[in-house]
Amino acid sequence: MILFDGRPIQAIVVDIEGTTTDIAFVKSVLFPYALQRLRGFMGDLAPTPEGQAILQQVRAEVGQPDLPLEACLDQLLAWAKADQKITPLKTLQGLIWAEGYRDKAYYSHVYKDAAAYLQDWHRQGVPLYVYSSGSVAAQKLLFAHTLEGDLTPCFQGFFDTTTGSKLESASYRKIATSMEIPPAEILFLSDHPGELAAAQQAGWQVCAVQRPGTPDFPAGLPVVHDFEALPIVVQASA
Ligand SMILES: [Mg+2]
Repeated sequence: MILFDGRPIQAIVVDIEGTTTDIAFVKSVLFPYALQRLRGFMGDLAPTPEGQAILQQVRAEVGQPDLPLEACLDQLLAWAKADQKITPLKTLQGLIWAEGYRDKAYYSHVYKDAAAYLQDWHRQGVPLYVYSSGSVAAQKLLFAHTLEGDLTPCFQGFFDTTTGSKLESASYRKIATSMEIPPAEILFLSDHPGELAAAQQAGWQVCAVQRPGTPDFPAGLPVVHDFEALPIVVQASA
């Protein structure tokens, strides 16, 4: 039996950026790396079927079926600089980040308390899930390459915005349905008030995670500063 603040839960769903991971890792490490590698990486990838598929998607997106390679690269760079979530760009960023992890250009950041508790809960049989705006592929890469080791085995499932916006309660209803758990028995941890409100509207239990730099939360929300402070109790089943 798992209790959050005295109420039974069956699973914990975590946000990544600002919750398990310092926002600065994504903003100051991953995005600049993808930006800097974009032209060279995509240039090499262009002749391959994978590269061709990305270029086709860029051309479809801008409605110019004959857009030359150089112009496609310019478009991808412009989207990347504007931090736009366009599918071919997200696919390409995922491939570039995979290369960066493989080459050990960086390790992903996971707060020590988050890594310790995720591993601990997993050992105790608590079902854990991720819901993040980064693609599922990027989520798996991130948790596979932390300084604390590969944390992906801790998770039973990963959800991204292909399920829906994190600010809409319908997304949380869909996730609960796919997890086959009553909404009231799911706990969501996030640093974003809008996400927490949407999850609450869907009937989930929520707790705000306030890391250094996170703005204050509206009154009434339970707030912790690290995972150690979460009022979660795991009782061995009789
Ligand atoms: Mg977040």
